[in-house]
This record gives sequence, structure tokens and C-alpha cells, in this order.
Amino acid sequence: MTGLRGTPVETRVTRWTDGLPQYAVGHADRVERIRSGVRRHPGLGACGAAYGGVGIPACVADAGHEAARLADTLTDHSRTTGGDQSAAGPNQQGVNP
Ligand SMILES: Cc1cc2nc3c(=O)[nH]c(=O)nc-3n(C[C@H](O)[C@H](O)[C@H](O)COP(=O)(O)OP(=O)(O)OC[C@H]3O[C@@H](n4cnc5c(N)ncnc54)[C@H](O)[C@@H]3O)c2cc1C
Repeated sequence: MTGLRGTPVETRVTRWTDGLPQYAVGHADRVERIRSGVRRHPGLGACGAAYGGVGIPACVADAGHEAARLADTLTDHSRTTGGDQSAAGPNQQGVNP
């Protein structure tokens, strides 16, 4: 590719074993089961390479969808509790979402 010829002076191979998730047969169903469990808890989401694709674009898209879903959930939750923010409980920063 670079057009260089000759024997390398030094080489190093780094193997990132287990660096990427290897999806097993039934992965989509497993992810749906996990996500349906997660959806039962308002404010909780799950995303990342373990779920919807290992490449960075897939991770970013997955995170975007999950963040949008969480925003909707929190908005709906706030609406159904009549805007009573204390019903949602404080988060770790002591601030209601
Ligand atoms: C060597 C390598 C090269 C790659 N090259 C490419 C590439 O060129 N292009 C591409 O599209 N994809 C590439 N990928 C894939 C892509 O980078 C990953 O799949 C993606 O970054 C995974 O994103 P993630 O958010 O799921 O996990 P991560 O990016 O691993 O993020 C998880 C985060 O959680 C943190 N964490 C872990 N445990 C805890 C804990 N207990 N408490 C708090 N925080 C915690 C970690 O520190 C980390 O910051 C590569 C992956 C590897 C390993």
C-alpha cells in the first residue's frame, strides 16, 4: 500500500482478544428480552456493542434511539404523575430528572 520494500526492523502484533462481542444464535431475541425487562423501569436504558451492532456508527445510533426513548419515557412519567417530580425520585446528583 505504501510502496515500501524490505524487511521490517521491528514488528509487534497486539491481539485484542474478546475485544468485540461475538453474537450467538438467537441474539436478536435475547436483546429484545433484555430490553423489554429494561423498559419496565422508567429512566433505565441499555445500549452499546453488546446489543445492536459492534461498529461505532451502530453504537452511536443505538445510543441515540435509547436516549430518545428514555426522554419520552421520562416526559410521559412526569405527565402521568401530574408533574409531581418527587414521584420520580431524585437521581444520584440529588436532582429530579
Ligand atoms: C481494538 C478495537 C478496534 C476497533 N476499531 C473500530 C473501528 O475502527 N471502527 C468501528 O466502528 N469500531 C471499532 N471497534 C468497535 C467499537 O470501538 C466498539 O464496539 C465500541 O466502542 C463499543 O462501544 P460501547 O459503548 O458498547 O463500549 P465501550 O466503548 O467499551 O464503552 C464502555 C465504557 O464503560 C466503561 N465501564 C466499563 N465498566 C464500567 C463500570 N463498572 N463502571 C463504569 N464504567 C464502566 C468503560 O471504561 C468504557 O468507557 C473497535 C474495537 C476494538 C476493541
